[in-house]
Amino acid sequence: MSGSGGGDGLVLRSTGSWYDVEVEPGQVVACRTAGKLRLAGDRSTNPVAVGDRVRWSPEGEEQGVITAILPRRNAIVRRSVNLSRATHVVAANLDHAWLVLSCTLPETATGFVDRFLVAAHAFGVPVTLLFNKADELVEEEDRERLAYLQDVYNTAGYATRLLSARTGEGVEDWARELVGGVHLVSGASGVGKSTLISRLLPGVELKTGALSDAHSKGRHTTTFAEMFPLPGGGYIIDTPGIKGFGLVQIQRESLHHHFPEMFALLPQCKFHNCTHRHEPQCAVREGVETGDVAQERYANYIDLFDHFEDDGWRK
Ligand code: GDP
Ligand code: ZN
Repeated sequence: MSGSGGGDGLVLRSTGSWYDVEVEPGQVVACRTAGKLRLAGDRSTNPVAVGDRVRWSPEGEEQGVITAILPRRNAIVRRSVNLSRATHVVAANLDHAWLVLSCTLPETATGFVDRFLVAAHAFGVPVTLLFNKADELVEEEDRERLAYLQDVYNTAGYATRLLSARTGEGVEDWARELVGGVHLVSGASGVGKSTLISRLLPGVELKTGALSDAHSKGRHTTTFAEMFPLPGGGYIIDTPGIKGFGLVQIQRESLHHHFPEMFALLPQCKFHNCTHRHEPQCAVREGVETGDVAQERYANYIDLFDHFEDDGWRK
């Protein structure tokens, strides 16, 4: 194979024991990891994640071995399902996350949205809200709710987009924003993530290429994130089966850092360490009165604050 001298590559997919590493555009090598391979201080169950840049060397005719993980720019981490203190790295080195929501019922609760936004902010990944199913927007009630939600999140500093995976409306504009970067697509099940992603990958069969049998057998496509090269350059990461991210690595006292519109008001609170709950002369609570802070965002902040446990939130 070309690129057989080894070098640097990009992890497109992981099964837990094997990794698909893109070693050159369009060329993927199945790699295992060499012995103990961990980033310093990493307590996750998976040392190598989708989106990692790695160093690899060939092993045999078709396979390779990952010998080092290059430093990560950022990573999205969630609590491992069963082991309360262990974490799972969903994806690394992201430029942007797109949280897909449906314009119509069943709508995604803002509690879910805000937890996602807090986590992504803490991980250093900017987010845009993508309202899908614009074609179903006929009821006045749905239109009003959409306008309200767009206003809430625009006011909080987040961009929103409206599109339809079914009709294709807005999809081309969105696709242009994806060129060249690494993009995570997430959202509750049923909002249209798969339909949207397949729109972006026309004619691409989601196959594995020249991979070994051993690799194919161990695959858990529903559990692990997967990264696809986009036709115009850049990558999109699908996260099937991941409904939300637990808030790991966040201190209760700094929770408000991750609500940008509230954090911006902190200098105007009487106390520099105001938590915006019961303190007098709190600019955030005044902001809720005047409408500068959305009531629903504030309620979600309080809810997260109150459900804090020593090692994070378990909701
Ligand atoms: P996922 O669970 O987020 O991956 O959602 P899917 O892509 O599987 O879509 C869930 C359902 O919503 C399917 O029945 C899709 O056909 C439908 N759907 C997806 N996008 C749209 C859209 O833009 N408009 C309408 N009306 N239906 C959509
Ligand atoms: Zn305050």
